[in-house]
Amino acid sequence: MEAPWPAEGGPGHRRWRGPRELGIAVWTIRVNVEENEVFNASQILADLRMVAETLFHPMRLVGFWDGLANGMHLCPHEGRKMRCPHKLPHDDPSFVEYSRTAEREMDASLEVVFPHAQVHIYLK
Ligand SMILES: [Zn+2]
Repeated sequence: MEAPWPAEGGPGHRRWRGPRELGIAVWTIRVNVEENEVFNASQILADLRMVAETLFHPMRLVGFWDGLANGMHLCPHEGRKMRCPHKLPHDDPSFVEYSRTAEREMDASLEVVFPHAQVHIYLK
């Protein structure tokens, strides 16, 4: 009996390729919530984390950026008692994009964006 999927390396086989292999460090998925006059979606970080981790199980949060909370984020630099480079003016030579830190230092491979809450959740 033939396997229901193409053999590794055989014709028709499409091996799953990770973001880095494709030259894309972090994939981004936007979760747009259409709200109405009566119902608004939660903007609470813990709720959105649960949604992101549920949608993309078994991935887990490694970082976040909360735009509504003045750019509150999980900062590996501050964790190492270093100056946070993420909230500096963009023209400051020490400025580092948070998504870059999430990719390089926190090994994130997926960014889930909730535009209604200005929250970015990084999963790995
Ligand atoms: Zn920071």
